[in-house]
Amino acid sequence: MTSTHHKAKQFQAIKGVRDILPPESVLWNRVEQTAREVFGTFGFAEIRLPIFEQTELFARSVGQETDIVSKEMYSFDDKPGGMPDPGPFVIPEDYTVAVEHAMKTGQIPLNPSNQSIMASVRENLKMLRKASDLSRTQEAEQAYMRWFVALQHLELGESITLRPEATASVVRAYIEHGMQTLPGNVKLYYLGPMFRRERPQKGRYRQFYQIGAEVLGSSDAPGIDAEVIEMLMRLFERLKLKGAVLHINSIGDKNCRPAYVEKLRAELQKVREQLGPDSQRRIETNPLRVLDSKLESEQDIIHKLPRIADHLCESCREHYAEVKKQLGLRGIKYEENWRLVRGLDYYMRTTFEITAPGLGSQNAVCGGGRYDGLVELLGGPATTKGIGFAIGTDRLVLSLQGEGEGEVQGGLDVYLAWFGAAAHSAAIGLARRLRDAGFVVELPAVEMKFGKSLGLADRLKARHAVIVGDDELAAGVVTVKRLSDGSQQKLGEQELFSYLRAGNA
Ligand code: AMP
Repeated sequence: MTSTHHKAKQFQAIKGVRDILPPESVLWNRVEQTAREVFGTFGFAEIRLPIFEQTELFARSVGQETDIVSKEMYSFDDKPGGMPDPGPFVIPEDYTVAVEHAMKTGQIPLNPSNQSIMASVRENLKMLRKASDLSRTQEAEQAYMRWFVALQHLELGESITLRPEATASVVRAYIEHGMQTLPGNVKLYYLGPMFRRERPQKGRYRQFYQIGAEVLGSSDAPGIDAEVIEMLMRLFERLKLKGAVLHINSIGDKNCRPAYVEKLRAELQKVREQLGPDSQRRIETNPLRVLDSKLESEQDIIHKLPRIADHLCESCREHYAEVKKQLGLRGIKYEENWRLVRGLDYYMRTTFEITAPGLGSQNAVCGGGRYDGLVELLGGPATTKGIGFAIGTDRLVLSLQGEGEGEVQGGLDVYLAWFGAAAHSAAIGLARRLRDAGFVVELPAVEMKFGKSLGLADRLKARHAVIVGDDELAAGVVTVKRLSDGSQQKLGEQELFSYLRAGNA
């Protein structure tokens, strides 16, 4: 079957990413605006960060062994030039020289990895020449293939990654701009999209949004931890998020944690056979992460494992006790959860998470913790300490919607129906004055029949239809109709404004 009419290809958003449409976007804006207001009252200021950074920044900070870095990052080479054009006949010697030249001129980055690749390219070239000289065709072919494949491994640009989280960027910016010289603690918040190639499901997306905050400075006083948590809880209260539960833990520091991790590893070795493949692997790579496991069959085993609280050193124990006391001073309820770990070396002491209802298995709306080693790890002063959190905005919005807090106010105040050219010009002026006064006004762009125009006002769910026709113009009034009950009256402009204000109050 042939068709003369070819329909153009339609596009769809990529798997795991989505559009946020009105009216949902109104709720998103309310959430983000409330965060700005609440964080502002705690003395936090916004930092606007780039969406991409050097891959190495995340590899170093988030950690090479994490799922995020090992398999979820959106990375690409930022190619400045690319490979030289091979032309129709590739002579390996000539082409190798061309590639080396491209590295000298900076068209291909001259980094250690590329240098070692070029060493093997040269090596294979030598073998190719030797094999050809001796007419050993098969060997020559193999050397040619290896030469060719080695070239494919050259990094053609700096590797760049769409940020999977923003703490690394905040710390990078803190160091880059020498913010350690600023007085007091540096308190920053950010909001925006993050990217992780995860398996999409409800509450888990490949482009998702976070609202986060960080405190960087020389102090690790428990009062800072408690205030950061207080700020979060204030935000959730202001948003009327119901059923949020704060979970806290302390995971020790570099004095006491290593011994605990070894003890945990030893205990895990004993029960190795009863664990699933993920946990078995983590015994070597990151035993703390086993505690995160949600696998039903592992729960009883995990329950019997040694707990960090029993292995904290004196100063970590004191710090944790003081955090709890300070939360108490602020009237903040919490649940202690010894399994709440952040499996990264630079995290220490306080960790916390907030769960909310209506989210199924992805019920964490916020995760946070103290990361006193991170600034140093990224080349900053060893004395700078840090603590922060990231709220998953998608999940927060989902939970608010589930709790019935997703209703959005607003909508159309006035549908301004006009009839005739003279009324049109009057309506344009009136629309401007109404909008200047803050009313939401819909002004039809073309003239419509009366019934059709008012029908549209209804369907747009306008609160009022304001009607301007020849009769109104002659009398110097407008007709205002309240669409909820159909009541109607003629008002002068000043009266109209008072009437609308009273109706909106
Ligand atoms: P994390 O940076 O992994 O500690 O995540 C902090 C918060 O971001 C989590 O508690 C979630 O609310 C949210 N989050 C993390 N990954 C995703 C995702 N793929 N989709 C939606 N929200 C996410």
